[in-house]
Amino acid sequence: MRALLTNDDGCASPGLIALASAIREVAETFVVAPEHERSAASHAITLHKPLRAVPVRLGDTGVPAWATNGTPADCVVLGVLDLLESPPDVVVSGINLGANLGMDLIYSGTVSGAVEATLFGIAAVAISVAGFEDVHWQPAARFAAGLVQEVRRRGLPRDTFLNVNLPNRPASELRGVEVTRQSARRYVNRLEKRSDPRGRAYYWLTGAAEEVQHAPGTDARAVAEGRISVTPLRLDMTDDELTPVIRSWSLSIPTE
Ligand code: MN
Repeated sequence: MRALLTNDDGCASPGLIALASAIREVAETFVVAPEHERSAASHAITLHKPLRAVPVRLGDTGVPAWATNGTPADCVVLGVLDLLESPPDVVVSGINLGANLGMDLIYSGTVSGAVEATLFGIAAVAISVAGFEDVHWQPAARFAAGLVQEVRRRGLPRDTFLNVNLPNRPASELRGVEVTRQSARRYVNRLEKRSDPRGRAYYWLTGAAEEVQHAPGTDARAVAEGRISVTPLRLDMTDDELTPVIRSWSLSIPTE
């Protein structure tokens, strides 16, 4: 098995190093990651300036690694189409510092690394730990190593991928693994308006996840209750339930 790793926290992230250390035990492993943090880059790609990829040392993992001036999606393109001699069997994006639950998926660079691989027809996993301090990387790294072997063995349907989140706690305190659906978790208080020294307004995007209890079976609920969440996702965002409703609307070709 050959694995390509990327992330959105940058090539110096301890989450990426932990992931590479674990994945290299089960796969021939390569890393192509942003040179600095691109969290919330979503699926941005770089079209208006040159992309560069330079070999870097990834901690003491010994894993071949490149740092790029691109986004996570760019990194996967560079890895698949040029830097690796042949396409990988699996792409793992992470381990992200902080959860990717609910509407985080809209903004997440981590998830988009997996999405880009999925667009290439390569099996992909995004993985995140729901914490920002004293992060327990090891359970996530070991879970990822087991999961990629299972992905390799079983395969994933076309245009689907997996999004994994772990509660930030030691393995002995994890309460199981749950296959979930994406929650409606979203952010509130998202904008701070301040005044600069010259009295002009400036803005800072911010916000905290809405404090609500999410439905059983969702990613956010599983993580809140101490379980590892594995969410199968698809690129097709069509809402099949809404389709007949919209068909009943008065929609016609505009008259001239
Ligand atoms: Mn990140």
